[in-house]
Amino acid sequence: METSTVRTNGSITLQPSMVREVWKQELADAVRDPAELCDLLDLDPAIAQKSKDAGRDFMFLVPRGFISRMQPGDPNDPLLLQVLPRLEELDDIPGFVSDPVGEQPARRGTGLIQKYHGRCLLLVTGGCAVHCRYCFRREFPYAESGASPASFVAAVNEIRADESIHEVILSGGDPLLIDDALLETLIRDIDSISHVRRLRIHTRIPVVLPSRITEQLLHILDTTRLTACVVIHANHAAELDSIVAGSIRRMSHVVRILLNQAVLLRGVNDTAESLIQLSERLLDIGVTPYYLHLLDPVRGASDFDVPEEIGVRLIEELRNRLSGYAVPRLAREHPGSPSKTWLA
Ligand code: SF4
Repeated sequence: METSTVRTNGSITLQPSMVREVWKQELADAVRDPAELCDLLDLDPAIAQKSKDAGRDFMFLVPRGFISRMQPGDPNDPLLLQVLPRLEELDDIPGFVSDPVGEQPARRGTGLIQKYHGRCLLLVTGGCAVHCRYCFRREFPYAESGASPASFVAAVNEIRADESIHEVILSGGDPLLIDDALLETLIRDIDSISHVRRLRIHTRIPVVLPSRITEQLLHILDTTRLTACVVIHANHAAELDSIVAGSIRRMSHVVRILLNQAVLLRGVNDTAESLIQLSERLLDIGVTPYYLHLLDPVRGASDFDVPEEIGVRLIEELRNRLSGYAVPRLAREHPGSPSKTWLA
């Protein structure tokens, strides 16, 4: 960690404002080269070379804490498969497109997307702490969509002017990637809009960079008038180690609703056993399984696709083996539809 010291009367004082926070340092130290990842996991260097070629359009990025949960020597590790570029990404498969859920027509002013009645989504940043190869926004034009703090004032004004909006969803990228100070200002501004009742945060950061759950962040969420709901994103039980569990536990003291959404991914979690373990682990750490999404058909992710009928069968099996509240809803998003479609 970067630190800065100042001498006062012979003693050394740490200057808090000049200390780089742990999570920022961990993000700066994240692995950005598939060769380094393969080296860390004792994998064949040939895998890294193919991966380098495949990842040229969507940069490779993985925090070391997430890598530490992968099994060395296993090229099929379910966490590794989510982040390592594969040559199949370069295949042009019919039906797999750049905007699979129709977000471009739903853009509403700067940084806002509104697809459903009563809530709108604010794109806080285009950055993430990890790059998931199946991401439906992997080609999203963040720069021209106002996904940055520079757009917050206009976005908040637009929300203020529309009394039909009761819930604001912070999304991205990953909304927890911005500074606490910026986030606090944004949340306070949303808080001041009387017709907004709930704040929902969609984030993968508690899972991939748990050190980001700082005391300051918890204070911000604890002191808002808004009902805070955090939807994390984990696809496999192995993602949820004891450090993640600790951060989730601390969040559960200030967040009223804690949910998980997962994506059904071929080779990662497309067995009943894997999904059962995910649900059990989520409940152990205090998170309710909410959605299991079928893959959005984004260009470059076709090799993760699992057919709908298999998804339905998996959910039936989960229903036979788990309590009702442990079974996520299987859902698919259709562009232009007024809601998600529940399939099981
Ligand atoms: S963290 Fe979320 S937005 Fe970022 S790459 Fe992964 S799935 Fe996409």
